[in-house]
Parts: sequence; structure tokens; C-alpha cells
Amino acid sequence: MSMNNEKLADMLFPHVDGTPALYENMYPKRDLPDGAMVTRLGPSPTGFIHLGNIYGALTDERLAHRSGGIFYLRIEDTDSKRMVEGAEKVIIESLDFFGIHFDEGAGQDTDRGSYGPYHQSRRKDIYHCFAKELVKKGLAYPCFMTEEEIGAIRQKQEAEKKTPGIYGGYARCRDMSIADVEDALESGSPYVLRLRSKGSENIDPETGSSSVYFKTRDGIRGEISMPENIQDIVVLKADGMPTYHFAHVVDDHLMRTTHVIRGEEWLSSLPIHIELFNALGFDIPVYCHTAVLMKLDENGNKRKLSKRKDPELSLDYYKEKGYHPDALKEYMLTILNSDFEEWRTEHPELPIEDFDFSMDKMSTSGALFDLDKLEDVSKECLFRISSSDLAAFMARWISMYRPDHSDVSSDMDYLEAILDLGRHDNKPRKDLIYAEQILDFIKYFFDGYFRVEDGLPEEVSPQDAKEIIARYKETYDHSDDQSAWFDKIRTIAADMGYAAKPKDYKKNPDDFKGHVGHVSTVIRLAVTGRSQSPDVWAIQQIMGEERVMRRLGDYDPSL
Ligand code: GLU
Repeated sequence: MSMNNEKLADMLFPHVDGTPALYENMYPKRDLPDGAMVTRLGPSPTGFIHLGNIYGALTDERLAHRSGGIFYLRIEDTDSKRMVEGAEKVIIESLDFFGIHFDEGAGQDTDRGSYGPYHQSRRKDIYHCFAKELVKKGLAYPCFMTEEEIGAIRQKQEAEKKTPGIYGGYARCRDMSIADVEDALESGSPYVLRLRSKGSENIDPETGSSSVYFKTRDGIRGEISMPENIQDIVVLKADGMPTYHFAHVVDDHLMRTTHVIRGEEWLSSLPIHIELFNALGFDIPVYCHTAVLMKLDENGNKRKLSKRKDPELSLDYYKEKGYHPDALKEYMLTILNSDFEEWRTEHPELPIEDFDFSMDKMSTSGALFDLDKLEDVSKECLFRISSSDLAAFMARWISMYRPDHSDVSSDMDYLEAILDLGRHDNKPRKDLIYAEQILDFIKYFFDGYFRVEDGLPEEVSPQDAKEIIARYKETYDHSDDQSAWFDKIRTIAADMGYAAKPKDYKKNPDDFKGHVGHVSTVIRLAVTGRSQSPDVWAIQQIMGEERVMRRLGDYDPSL
């Protein structure tokens, strides 16, 4: 440590009184079992929380909790220009909605945990202490270059087809004398603090990167080889706030993160981060770069999900449609771990927490997100949720997104019975997908929304339909079991010239007007308004005799 560096450090950071040793003691190594992973989610409150966040968060959460570790939330709010009011609340609420729970970190009202503060904006003193340390070691320096100067350099570099950026000979302020720095500071010139990169010697003209490569292990991708960083990247911005590069290195070290799970878009900055870890003398956590979420476009080509083109990238899409959080989580697991589906087939009853989530099973080359597949997963998932939980979920969704339909959830026993319909059959129904679809699917149970939507089958004249309903009402006994009930319909059919069995009609279509199925469709239309529905007998049992009679009485087949 040269005298000059010490002096420079004191000049730049006269107010820093913490020391690295102080912070190391304040945030000791965590006392966790061997192999326990400490992971974090580090969202920036920029107002858009998306599927990618959940994808990453679920990876973090599963890895930490499967290994007996800790999963925490850190708010990365150092870029005041990109901050959006209220965005942090949305992040916390959304993660909570999707059932992703943190052990510590930023919270709605207060932070929890002893490794905080968990907002980067409140950690300035800590960053300054470690920035000062870099200056002391001669590994960082103040840079007074103006925007214009940097812009001119970039233009020159472009024209000469040189690697863009501030590095090597372009880093004009690297070797400023102490006296010049002092003058510049005194005159109040704004400055940033830059890393003095050690990697700027040999640049490969082909790649524009250092020709020196280093090897590292990515938790998901395995061994990778990357060129050393050459850039004197900014460590502290002119407002004294750290860049992401610097802040996350200091934080992940002091918060004792063992695995940094983040999107693939950060992979190219890894050499910078490794240089920073080394410069600060910290152990490097295991970096794990997840695959980008892709979709198949109309032409069958894989492309990245885009904020502009794909509403399904936004989490609001799922909340508004009323996807159950478990379904989305379950589907995320199918794309996160290639063996999840097989496990699920073998263990339909187990909670997802029992699945042995593993980084080895993660895709590296773009994870395909498919809404149709999500629907299939959702059908299975909702089938596993009890009818009473499903009714409670519907009630919550209705109160948030369809308050005008509050009558649907006013009688919870009725709603639960409706949702339970067909679940215990030999071949159980699995046609509930998401709240909006379910609401539409069950609306006919409620008088306020009931209307006759479909017309008569062509085999049945309006006259006959009237007679079918009249006879049906006459013989109706609400306490009939299903077979007694259907026998009566067969009798009506036979009496009126319809085959009592569909196969008789198929054999000799000229002998009959139609068959018992056409006759029961008329009853179905009167009771549900639809020509397709679950079992009519079961529907009537749920609706109750009075409502059934009223509907039969109101039905006018000639309309
Ligand atoms: N704040 C960064 C982002 O929102 C987090 C990246 C990371 O997880 O390290 O992209």
C-alpha cells in the first residue's frame, strides 16, 4: 500500500469510519449445516415484475430450502432514475401471492434478519468503506472524465473498430497525480470511482476482449471459459451510489450468499464480477446463470418472451386471469427441472416441496414457456386442491377482480358443491383451469347470470321439447337416484318416438325421431341453458328442487 494510495483514499473518503474488519465481524459467516445454500433475490424496483423473476425466485427458494439454507430478499435500488414509486410493494406482494416466502430481507413494513440493511440505497457507508479499501490498494481511482469526453472516445473507438469503453490508454485519469486530483476535488469537479482493471494488456482484435481466458464453474452451466475483464468499470457513480457490479459483490459477500442465481443476461459481466471479488479479497460465490424464457412464435420459431409483445410475461396476467399460484409454480418447476414431470406422475399426491430440485437438471439454452402446457398443468393442479380451498381461492379472486360477481361467493357451501362436481367420478372431471374460466364455466348455477345459450338439437321440434319438459316435470322426484332418474327419461323418450338407447337409433335411424340423448339435451338446456354440461342429475342435486322446477317452468323452447 503506497503512501499515495492511502492519502488518495483519505482525500476521497474522509468520512468513512467503518473498516472491512468491522463489517466482517458484524456479518459473520452463517452458522448453517454443511451444504446449506444461501440465496437471494435482488430485484430492482423498476415497476415490472415478470415471469422471469418468479422463475429465478423459485430456483433460489427451492435450492435454499431443500438444503436447509436461507433465502432472502434484497432490494437493488441504487439507480434512482429507474425507480418507480410503489414498485417494491408490488414485488413483495406478488412474490407472496405466488407463495414464494423469504426467510429474511426487505419486507412490507420492516426488514427481517441480521445481515441488513436489505435495501442497497441504505448501504452507502458500507460501499464507501470497501471502495476506500480498493483505493488504498491502488485498485480504484477517481475519474473526472466528462460525458462529452467519454462520448468522443466512444466515437473514435467506433471509427477505428476498437473495443469500446474506458480501459488501458483510454483511461485518462488512471495516473493523475495526487496534486491534480486534489485540485479537481477542490474545484468541485464531479467524478466517478473506477476499478483499475488488471486485465488490459492483450486485446484480441477478433473478439475485442482480452486474449487471456480464465476458467470458472457455473452452477448450472458447468465449467466455462471467459476472457478476463479489461474495463475500468465504474464502481461508484457521481452521486456516490454504487453500480450493480460493485454493490452486489459487496452485498453477496457480507450477506454470505453462497449461490448467486441470476439471468443469463448477466453472464457476460461475470469477468468484471470475478475481478471485483478478487480485488476485494473475497471468496467467490457459485454463480448460476439461468436460461432465458422463450416461447414459440406463430411461425414455430423460438424467441425470447418480450415485455412489449407478450402480455403473459407480466405476472399481472396470471393474477387477473386467476391462475392459482400453485399451478404457476408447478408449471415453472416443469420447465426448471427436466425430471419434475416424471416425478409428478409418480407422486401425484406429494407437495412440490418433496421434489428433489437440482441445478443439474436445469436448462442452459432457453427454457420454453408454453401457455397451453400451463393450462394442462393447471387442470391437474386444481384437481389436487380441495374443493373448499378452491372455493376460498375463487372468493378471493372474485373480490379482487370481479367484485360485481360477489353473489357467486356469497354462499360458500353452494360454491364448494359446484366446484366439487364430478371430482369423485370414476373418470373425474379435470376441466377447471383458472378463475376467469371457472367463473364462466359455473355461471349457470346462479340465477342472476343464467340464460339459455344454446338451441334445440335438430332432432327435437319445439313442440316435442315442450312436451318433454311437461312430462319430465310431472314425473320428477328430487329424491330419485341417478339410475331411477335416467330410467324416467328413457321412458319419456320411448313414449314419444325416440330410441331409448342411442345404438338402436344408430342402427335404424328411420324408425325414430332421435334418441334418449336428444331428449335429455332438452332437459339440460332447460336446467343449465347449455347443450354441454356435467351430469344433469348431479347438477340438479346441487341446485336444489326449487331452482330446478323454476327453470323447467321458465324454459321456452320456441325462443
Ligand atoms: N438487480 C438485478 C436485476 O434486477 C439483479 C441481478 C442479480 O440477481 O444479481 O436484474
